[in-house]
Amino acid sequence: MSLKGIGAKRTEQFHKLGINTVGALIRFFPRDYYDFSKFYKICQCSLITDSCIKVSFISDFKLVHKKGNVSMYKAIASDGCDSIDVILFYDPYWIHSHDSKNEYLLLGKVVYKNSSYQIFSPLIEPYRNSSFLKPIYRQTSGLNSNTIAKYVKQALSMLPEPLEDTLPQSIKDQFSLCDLRFALHNVHFPSSRTSLQLAKKRLAFEEILIFRLSVELSKQNKKQQKSVLIDCSFQEDFQDLLDFELTESQKKVIAECINDILNSPYPMNRLLQGDVGCGKTVVAACLCFCMAKNNIQSAFMVPTEILSFQHFEYLKNLFKSTGINVELLTSSTRPKERKRILLGIQNGLIHILIGTHSLISGDVNFLNLGLVITDEQHRFGVNQRLALSSKGHNPHVLVMSATPIPRTLAMVLYCDLDISVIDQLPAGRKTISTYLINSEKRNRAFLFIEKLINQGRQCFIICPLIQDSDLEANSIQYYHDLLSKSNLAKFPIGIIHGKLSEYEKYNTMQQFIDGEIKILLATTVVEVGIDVKNASVIMIENAERFGLSQLHQLRGRVGRGNFQSFCILVSDSDNQETLKRLNVMCTTHDGFDISNQDLKLRGPGEFFGTKQHGIFNNSILNILEDLTLFEKAYKATQDILLDDPDMTKKDHKKLKALINLKTNFLHTGI
Ligand code: ADP
Ligand code: MG
Repeated sequence: MSLKGIGAKRTEQFHKLGINTVGALIRFFPRDYYDFSKFYKICQCSLITDSCIKVSFISDFKLVHKKGNVSMYKAIASDGCDSIDVILFYDPYWIHSHDSKNEYLLLGKVVYKNSSYQIFSPLIEPYRNSSFLKPIYRQTSGLNSNTIAKYVKQALSMLPEPLEDTLPQSIKDQFSLCDLRFALHNVHFPSSRTSLQLAKKRLAFEEILIFRLSVELSKQNKKQQKSVLIDCSFQEDFQDLLDFELTESQKKVIAECINDILNSPYPMNRLLQGDVGCGKTVVAACLCFCMAKNNIQSAFMVPTEILSFQHFEYLKNLFKSTGINVELLTSSTRPKERKRILLGIQNGLIHILIGTHSLISGDVNFLNLGLVITDEQHRFGVNQRLALSSKGHNPHVLVMSATPIPRTLAMVLYCDLDISVIDQLPAGRKTISTYLINSEKRNRAFLFIEKLINQGRQCFIICPLIQDSDLEANSIQYYHDLLSKSNLAKFPIGIIHGKLSEYEKYNTMQQFIDGEIKILLATTVVEVGIDVKNASVIMIENAERFGLSQLHQLRGRVGRGNFQSFCILVSDSDNQETLKRLNVMCTTHDGFDISNQDLKLRGPGEFFGTKQHGIFNNSILNILEDLTLFEKAYKATQDILLDDPDMTKKDHKKLKALINLKTNFLHTGI
């Protein structure tokens, strides 16, 4: 980078943050801001967590306490109405009370104690006749936020004059977007909340636009040939294998997939979304069936071994009379077995291979892989999915997810995928009654569970941690003791957590499925996919530790059959926000609603931050508040492509250049 004061060491530190050029530094957006834009009077502050006050000092800082190498300094400041004790753990030698004309902004929590106001370790900024927000950057060791800000400032001062804008004027006018220069300055050093909003809006819009345009253009360019034509007239035979009728929604989704496979010029590239328990696996099974009937291989990748066992058992059983060979490959597959399977895959004897990310290891070679399915896709990184697809020649791709992404976000994240939705649960499912209790009521819950088990049902109990390392969390060990002293001790209890061997997990799971174990005490390893119809109650300890979508997934372990099911959330939290969040679970049962609420409560960062979307790691979208922007940018994309399908017009030159840059990232194939 050609900035002043950057040597080899700094360069390396910047590299650690993923910043290799001045341009990248300019687009290294703050993750948050300290707000020095709104001042309060000292007496107004006690109700506000972090408030900014404008004061001048009426005494110098004096050392008031020293212990070891901790020194405490105190001074008195005044805002003209009230005075306040300012307490710091360093000596701000640059502040002198005799310069009482100099005003300072202090940001921190003001408390009122022993009839005086106090503020501890506030941030201090000299007041310079204007308000501002101070950027907070992601930092790395040796490179803190202040230093980064200094370099960003330098970089901004080097922007060329005039600065060519990426967005055509017409788009800026249509969507009221500010200039690039204004946006870049104000996203780093906003003069007010309003200018920050404007800057964010403009930059986010641009980012969404570029991302979408690059996907659309690469779709157009790539008109991949499909590898083989296949016959899909086997769906009725498939229905005959099932002991239930497919729901209309499942039929519709299968038809959409088959249509992709038969009629589209490209291979299928589809996301299947559907709430927990809606029956996605059987859709996957149907497609594998059609492929196998054409002697084409399918790979079915899942995130956990437990889930891979389950899918394996299910498909093997389903297809046992059909001559279709199903195998399982995981990291615990024994070497001899592994060798046999690898051979079967290579010579085409195995039609369907189920497994964890073991499927992508180098020695797995398919004869003719035509369909790649990933279950619970949010658990995989983009690269893992790509690696699996690359084992075939343009295979059809289906990714399945029970963690619905709100529509607004899906339009961006998954814009290279067609989306199918199963919006119906199999007949006879009942709403899962959900309760929030504190640990004082746990014994009553145990009595309730006892009653259900006596009626023949089974129970999951979920704890967040395995060991007693963290006293706040009810560990499995602690909990197991608790159970063995309770009324539930008389029932067979199984334990599953991540530290057990796969074999132990498998065994315990099998006993639970067979009904020998009545209570399964587990960590979140059972979070995704596990399907035990007879389990009708799940109790989740320390529920406050889980996100809403995760709780919804966990709750989805029950209510998969016809029994009335229950979810008991246990939490001793007294934080209002947390309780509000947990109460959403009691009143909302639809996965889409829940993820929308999650989005409202926690912002889009949660969705973009997950590992499958590495492309949005340092994105302005993480701190975006106005989500309607997604739809607006979506519309702008359509408009541009309609007007100028290849983006050759002069107005679009700069955008096109950025897109070409981005396209490197873009072999996402999500
Ligand atoms: P998910 O979509 O969460 O992956 P699964 O595919 O595991 O759900 O299905 C949940 C349960 O519902 C399974 O036991 C499955 O056999 C059953 N199931 C799926 N489709 C139907 C249907 N049409 N009618 C009745 N039961 C079904
Ligand atoms: Mg599933």
